[in-house]
Amino acid sequence: MAHKVFVEELRKIVGKGNVLDSDVNLQLYQYDAYLEERRPDAVVFVHSTEEVARVVKLCNVHGVPFVPRGGGTNLSGGTIPLKGGVVLEMIRMNRLLEVDTANLRARVQPGMFNLELGNSLAPLGYQYLPDPASQKAATLGGNVAENSGGPHCFKYGVTTNHVMGLTVVLPDGEIAEIGGMAPDTPGYDLTGVFVGSEGTFGICTEVVVRILRQAEGVKTMLAIYDSIERGSETVSAIVAAGMIPATLEMMDQLVIQAVEQSIHCGLPLDCATVLIIEVDGLKDDLEAQTEAIVNLCKTHGAREVRVAKDDAERALLWAGRRGAFGAVARLSPSYLVCDGTVPRTALPVVLKKVAEVGKKYDLKIPNVFHAGDGNLHPLILFDWRNAEQKERVMKAGMEILELCVQLGGTISGEHGVGLEKMDAMRLVHTEADIRSQLMVKRAFDPQDLANPGKIFPALQEVASVV
Ligand SMILES: Cc1cc2nc3c(=O)[nH]c(=O)nc-3n(C[C@H](O)[C@H](O)[C@H](O)COP(=O)(O)OP(=O)(O)OC[C@H]3O[C@@H](n4cnc5c(N)ncnc54)[C@H](O)[C@@H]3O)c2cc1C
Repeated sequence: MAHKVFVEELRKIVGKGNVLDSDVNLQLYQYDAYLEERRPDAVVFVHSTEEVARVVKLCNVHGVPFVPRGGGTNLSGGTIPLKGGVVLEMIRMNRLLEVDTANLRARVQPGMFNLELGNSLAPLGYQYLPDPASQKAATLGGNVAENSGGPHCFKYGVTTNHVMGLTVVLPDGEIAEIGGMAPDTPGYDLTGVFVGSEGTFGICTEVVVRILRQAEGVKTMLAIYDSIERGSETVSAIVAAGMIPATLEMMDQLVIQAVEQSIHCGLPLDCATVLIIEVDGLKDDLEAQTEAIVNLCKTHGAREVRVAKDDAERALLWAGRRGAFGAVARLSPSYLVCDGTVPRTALPVVLKKVAEVGKKYDLKIPNVFHAGDGNLHPLILFDWRNAEQKERVMKAGMEILELCVQLGGTISGEHGVGLEKMDAMRLVHTEADIRSQLMVKRAFDPQDLANPGKIFPALQEVASVV
């Protein structure tokens, strides 16, 4: 079907004003928070499951690829329409449909921002725990597709531990319900399969999430260190002492300096690293937990440990941590956010080796990370206009992922594979593994129309075997 006729068909489904196809508009959808770009052929704003199903059906009939998009904040190129086609913008499906406090569930549309869900639940005394630092601009649909994490995921688990059910539009346009309000559904755990599938199995149009009562009390600490090794050793020491704080976050000196310049949250500019440690639970227990952690930090070399006196001080510390990626933009025109994991006991070693990679490639690499999960985010600074520098950055990024794997970790903690890490998949999977995973993709999407060209290396090479 000719492009113009296809666009007219899209307009018949969603209304004239909900389809973009001018050059200028399409340019705005050719990138996300990663480094690659590719323009779609059309962008469609959808408002209901039925509209999504009709658009996907049209794509299916005409063999047109499609890519769901939420806030476009993913860091792995997940929303880049590699093969052109239609981008379905989910952001207007943003309503909280139901809150069921007796069953600790909420039903949400996928375009709702993560923070907005939190803000809607807070007055009722409830919370949704996975809290990516991007929560102001990242949607629940994007969180589901990337299996997102966040500071609170150390204690409470990542998105997959909080998604109970999904309404999805499969790549042939069929609407399916998987999982649900009940704790377990018979048969395969298809919800678990869909969470983290990066838009390659279809589009989720409703999400049933687990909600929890807000903790009775919270205490937030800032532990300040002159040695990055001592700071990272403390992380394992806290866990080894039998304590599971709600968060265990870490930032190094360069990040601290950038954060201080932009957010002014009182971080000391001369220290090597800080840990932000938060404990939550029953009020009676918090004082003892806080005291034990403060002592442990000091035993492990903290030069000072501050305990936030009130909500305002706590909020300021979190503004600093959540604003860290944004603040680092002050340091260079661009940066590559690496996302790898190691067993938390390997943090001191991996940080040393990351610094060595920086020296080898002559690149600055500040670090900010979910230390409790051993999930590091080295940020490799560069200027995207310098092609030679970009090449060095890519090599350094790959070397950091290799290090993570050598130390018993893996190539992604929470940002997904997308385009960015397709080659790195070979560091952790054999050809046979990749072939098996592709069979799952094919079971959902035999025509390979849902976000094609992502996650798996050398798709064509293995296609004949599947
Ligand atoms: C400053 C910053 C901080 C960040 N901090 C964190 C963090 O702490 N933890 C973390 O995990 N991530 C973090 N991220 C990464 C990013 O925010 C997450 O991956 C987030 O979940 C993406 O949500 P989104 O709505 O922007 O999704 P998009 O970027 O729009 O899409 C991401 C993927 O989801 C798919 N998708 C989107 N909607 C749907 C849907 N309805 N159905 C099926 N597939 C869909 C897309 O096709 C794509 O593959 C950060 C990013 C930035 C820029």
